[in-house]
Formats: sequence, structure tokens, C-alpha cells
Amino acid sequence: MILQAKGLTKNYGDHTAVKDINLEFKKGSFNAILGPNGAGKSTTISMLIGLKRATNGQIIYAPNTRIGVVFQASVLDEKLTVKENLAIRAKQYKGITYNRVDELIHQLGLTAFQKQLYGTLSGGQKRRVDIARALLSKPDILFLDEPTIGLDVSVKDNIRRAITQINQEEETTILLTTHDLSDIE
Ligand code: ADP
Ligand code: MG
Repeated sequence: MILQAKGLTKNYGDHTAVKDINLEFKKGSFNAILGPNGAGKSTTISMLIGLKRATNGQIIYAPNTRIGVVFQASVLDEKLTVKENLAIRAKQYKGITYNRVDELIHQLGLTAFQKQLYGTLSGGQKRRVDIARALLSKPDILFLDEPTIGLDVSVKDNIRRAITQINQEEETTILLTTHDLSDIE
């Protein structure tokens, strides 16, 4: 088990957003949390990654687990190029070489637009760069909060393939959320 949550609960004031959920994720597995808007998906991810404190419950990671997160809203700089964005982030990690940036540009298919400003990219292109950014640190588990939201059908497929490939080739554990049943297929 790479990650386990027991009795996870989150109250916002007197509103219960997440109620007593139990989750278990095996190392290398591909997992999705499905639910409509407001179901508590983002809240759940925020608790699992330590961004929000659970009102109740326990979160247990396997020792030395590295995590990567693709947030619903991008955290990259619109006025920098794709490569600049990734290079700046790479510098923030100890022991991540510059080669990792080129490796991810290749792996996520960013080569053709690596010198383009992030702010000028299409939705699907941006999402792929966001995923590359989250993979810089070679995480053992990658969290993606609604990675296909707002994308065209063909672009959704493209993102799904990229995530599947990361799972299969890097053995990265995947945990994504979605409100889209077609993602689950
Ligand atoms: P999802 O990501 O599935 O759409 P969220 O986790 O964002 O759901 O939200 C779950 C519920 O918690 C919703 O009813 C939302 O309005 C509420 N909520 C989320 N964040 C906060 C907050 N910071 N304060 C109060 N209520 C919140
Ligand atoms: Mg959400």
C-alpha cells in the first residue's frame, strides 16, 4: 500500500464536505475518484496531499513516498515559455538535473511548442505542461484534480493516454478525480 486514508472527514463550519471515507491505494495502481461538482473531490485531494487539515481521520503514506500534484488551476507563469517554466521549477528541487526537463518535454510531447509562452497555449497543451511540471520530482504518486475538465473530446483522449503512459512506463501510482463518466471507461 502506498497510501491509505481511514475515516477521512472534512467539515467546513457546519457543512460536511467529506464524510468518513476509507481509501487504499496500491503502489503502481491507477485510481479515479468519481463524483459530481461539490461532491468533495478537491477537498479529498487537498487533505491527502496535506494542503487542508482533515477534521477527522488518518492519512498514512508508505515511507519516503514522493508526491506530485496537478491542480485544477495551473500554477505556471503565463508570460514564460514552456521550457522556462519547467526549468525554473526544476531548479527548486535538489538532485533534479536539467536533463529531466528535456526528458519530460519529450515524454509529454511538448517539443513543438516548448519555446511558446505558456499563456498562448491551448487547454490541452497547457494540461500536458502542467503534468510535466508535476513529474519533475519523479513522484511515486501523481494526483490530478479533474485533469480532463473543459477539454474537447479528442484532447481528453490525448490527456488520458498521457496519464496511462506515465502509469505504465514509470509505474507511477495515479490518483485522479473526475465528474466525467467517460474518463472512467
Ligand atoms: P468537488 O471538487 O467535488 O467539486 P469540493 O471539494 O470543491 O468538491 O467541495 C465540496 C463541498 O465543500 C462543496 O459543497 C463546497 O461548496 C464546499 N467547500 C469547498 N471548499 C470550501 C471552503 N473553503 N469553505 C467552505 N465550503 C467549502
Ligand atoms: Mg473540485
